[in-house]
Amino acid sequence: MEKITLTKFSQKELENYIVEQGEKKFRANQIFSWIWAKNATCFDDMTDVKKEFREFLNQNCQILDCKIKTRQISSDGTIKYLIEFKDGLCAETVLMRFDNRSNLSMCVSCQVGCKMGCKFCATGKNGFKRNLEANEIVSQILLAQMDTDLKITNVVFMGQGEPLDNFENIKKAIELINKNLQISIRRMTLSTCGIIPKIYKLAKSDLIPTLAISLHAPNHKIREQIMPIEKKYHIDDLKKALKAFNDETKDRVTIEYILIGGLNDTKDCAIELINLLSDIKCNINLIPYNPVNDENGFKKPNKKDMLKFKYLLEASGKKVTIRLERGADIDAACGQLAGKLAEV
Ligand code: SAH
Ligand code: SF4
Repeated sequence: MEKITLTKFSQKELENYIVEQGEKKFRANQIFSWIWAKNATCFDDMTDVKKEFREFLNQNCQILDCKIKTRQISSDGTIKYLIEFKDGLCAETVLMRFDNRSNLSMCVSCQVGCKMGCKFCATGKNGFKRNLEANEIVSQILLAQMDTDLKITNVVFMGQGEPLDNFENIKKAIELINKNLQISIRRMTLSTCGIIPKIYKLAKSDLIPTLAISLHAPNHKIREQIMPIEKKYHIDDLKKALKAFNDETKDRVTIEYILIGGLNDTKDCAIELINLLSDIKCNINLIPYNPVNDENGFKKPNKKDMLKFKYLLEASGKKVTIRLERGADIDAACGQLAGKLAEV
């Protein structure tokens, strides 16, 4: 008989299940707290749950339905995990701590592979396998917490896959992270390549994370060369969607812009980008291109061009940051997550 996975349940659902087994409500609360707040790795950790019921749980239930297959630790402290799901498929998840901040951020995956085929990204190279379920997304955070016995404070949906292509599971995952793991929606960021109808839908959701848009180009022509999604959703319509998101949520969006040497990092591109974003409330996050071991011919930008690009944008009054590269020595930096099995 297949075991029941308890991390699939909301608090109320867990309560119903435990009461159905003839136990009291408070028992459900104890178990809930062991799983979501106290990083219990097995039912025998749950010392205040009586032994006979722990035995029942061992026989009929499991906390998670996935496990850590490998773990790699970068020289900067970033940890990349390869998680194996119940059907044997794997995806990567990355734990990052930034110096002199107490935040601990988890970059989670939402699909095995990706359909979007961006030219600069390693994730899509092996095609798309499947969507991750809500509890598989949340389990990535729980597994990292269990492994390190630390509390994750921030979540970014920036791992493998396109979150808005897995909308319902992401929505459920956000709710579980918020309600069960007690992480504020203000500490969650969702990054998308720009699936326009879903941006409108997200703007009307109950829990709305910070929206980050993988823009990466200042116009249709360049964007189309590097991101196939541009053929379906034109940059002008994406801009309208961002404006609507601004208006509906009153929140700023984050514009992500990978700087690729010689392709989109020129002065003309900076000026075009300023004009494009002039009436969008946003911060801009520049990401130096991370090489992904293939034949796309893309280059890292040089430092001088990168700083010039940043200054030009800043002169328009926007807040601009250059994303710190984390975990590049273990292929854990942006765009490098390919889900390959690490040699350990
Ligand atoms: N599918 C979503 C989220 C995952 S990608 C999206 O595309 O937004 C997370 C971020 O890494 C995106 O901004 C993505 O464009 C960026 N990225 C992908 N490949 C990269 C590379 N080779 N170098 C730097 N950033 C990259
Ligand atoms: Fe998919 Fe995002 Fe990679 Fe594009 S950048 S292929 S949308 S994961």
